[in-house]
Amino acid sequence: MLENPILNKARHWIRPVIKKIQAYQVADASGLIKLDAMENPYSLSAGLQKRLQVELGGADLNRYPDPAASALHAKLRQVMQVPQDKAIVLGNGSDELIQMLAMAVADADKDVCLMSFDPGFVMYKMIADFVGIKYVGVSLSEDFLLDMEKTRAAIELHQPAIIFIAYPNNPSANCYNENDIEQIISIAPGIVVLDEAYHPFAQDSFMARLTEFDNLLVMRTVSKMGLAGLRLGLLCGHPEIIKEIDKIRLPYNINVLTQVAAELVLDNVDELDKQAKLIRDEREVLLEKMKALPGLQVFASQANFILFRVLDKNANEIFEGIKRSGVLIKNMKADAGLLKNCLRVTVGTPDENVAFLAALESAMKNE
Ligand code: PMP
Repeated sequence: MLENPILNKARHWIRPVIKKIQAYQVADASGLIKLDAMENPYSLSAGLQKRLQVELGGADLNRYPDPAASALHAKLRQVMQVPQDKAIVLGNGSDELIQMLAMAVADADKDVCLMSFDPGFVMYKMIADFVGIKYVGVSLSEDFLLDMEKTRAAIELHQPAIIFIAYPNNPSANCYNENDIEQIISIAPGIVVLDEAYHPFAQDSFMARLTEFDNLLVMRTVSKMGLAGLRLGLLCGHPEIIKEIDKIRLPYNINVLTQVAAELVLDNVDELDKQAKLIRDEREVLLEKMKALPGLQVFASQANFILFRVLDKNANEIFEGIKRSGVLIKNMKADAGLLKNCLRVTVGTPDENVAFLAALESAMKNE
């Protein structure tokens, strides 16, 4: 590259930690069956789509949205059964809520740390890097459960400001032992966030238990329910904590179209509930069929995706083989460690799952 002093001067200010980060990778899925991103494969009913068109057509795009999104708050409180005495803050996806939480605790004068579990959701670490604070990932056990001895020691040593627990976890798809989580909440020196992004498929939840723990926050999203395109997440917990997080929220972070669409669809949430049930049922079918294939270790799932390990073959080649057959899944790209040779597939429609199984079987035979 040619030496460009002006560009170099500008780039010089970018923090080294940011320059080192690899941007969040979103694979190109054009022309492929998309089973890589834990999306709900079903669209809304024709009737609801029509009503949505009318409502969205009437939205006041010339005006800023309701900054408090009050009607949407009320709707989410009812649909997600948020306890009456707990408060809610909304994010542009739960990713933005993780960012707000990190910004709320980041302090240049203190040795602040975010903690979570590895393998886990990558954004916790990325966001810690964005805001310039330490991230500690406590290693899970071989079967992706919390290693409580390690966890207790890490909490004691690092005194994390926030502990993120994805429940179920991504990418392992399991919920941790409830007693272990209770123990973490009770010994944590700060906030514990239960990230319940996959709640529609797990159904286990700490939402009702918010009343027992003042340092617990429960995070949900509408993404996995079938509204990933809207970008809407919520964080629920003690009003005194939520009030502080809400100060960091940029004004109007939930746009008009999202507010209008979410309110209407959540008024008809039984449509999404039925889709979640279909996905849970299909997950069981897919799990059975995958377990019947030789050469794979298939992990249990309480989410809308399945993690599996390719045993005696190269997972990268199996991934590429599946892709050549027209199906995009997620390659965990691990040569070693707990995710060694692992791939992750999102549960699709019955037809998509059949296509995936055929692609997997053929890749396993050919490699
Ligand atoms: N938490 C977990 C555990 C996730 O896997 C994801 C998305 N893959 C998110 C949060 C982010 O969800 P959203 O679409 O609401 O930003």
